[in-house]
Amino acid sequence: MVISRKVLLLNASYEPMNLVTAPKALTLVWRRVAETLELDHGYLIHTPRFAFEVPSVIRLTHYIDVRSRQNRVTNRHRIFARDHYKCQYCGHRGTAFDLTLDHILPKSRGGRTLAENLVTACQPCNNRKGNRTPEEARMPMLTNPSALYYGLEKVALRQAAEIRPEWRRYLFLEVFEEAIFQNNDSAVSA
Ligand SMILES: [Zn+2]
Repeated sequence: MVISRKVLLLNASYEPMNLVTAPKALTLVWRRVAETLELDHGYLIHTPRFAFEVPSVIRLTHYIDVRSRQNRVTNRHRIFARDHYKCQYCGHRGTAFDLTLDHILPKSRGGRTLAENLVTACQPCNNRKGNRTPEEARMPMLTNPSALYYGLEKVALRQAAEIRPEWRRYLFLEVFEEAIFQNNDSAVSA
């Protein structure tokens, strides 16, 4: 079904943001919120009078600062409130005095201090989990907090790239960026 074709949405900076449906993508392009970078060859959406070529990759015309939006909610009490002051591993209900924030993907392994990567945990669960992911520690989370959303989305994007080869060069852009930054760092320290 052409209606359910997925379209890769990039920020104005070419950073992958999300997958949207074909009709949503066409609406964004129609309203000039986004521009088409790649077409989904041969797929058309018909209205009574027109046929629109379905895009495969679109890019926002104006940059959206996702990181600063997320940073605004990276506040201990807001995350406790989001998680209802409950340890997301064992369900223990606590207070701001005895609860901790756990990095779902540990900090030492590149996990960032953003709402999407933080959950409320009691001290014993936090210690037990240590330097592991919930999967590695076999500590499934009680809820699927919005914290997880972004991480899962990235995995979904990588998987999608397997079947949509035209997406590949957009999805791995961040890796290139990191490489560029690292090169710059070493140039400075040299
Ligand atoms: Zn716990």
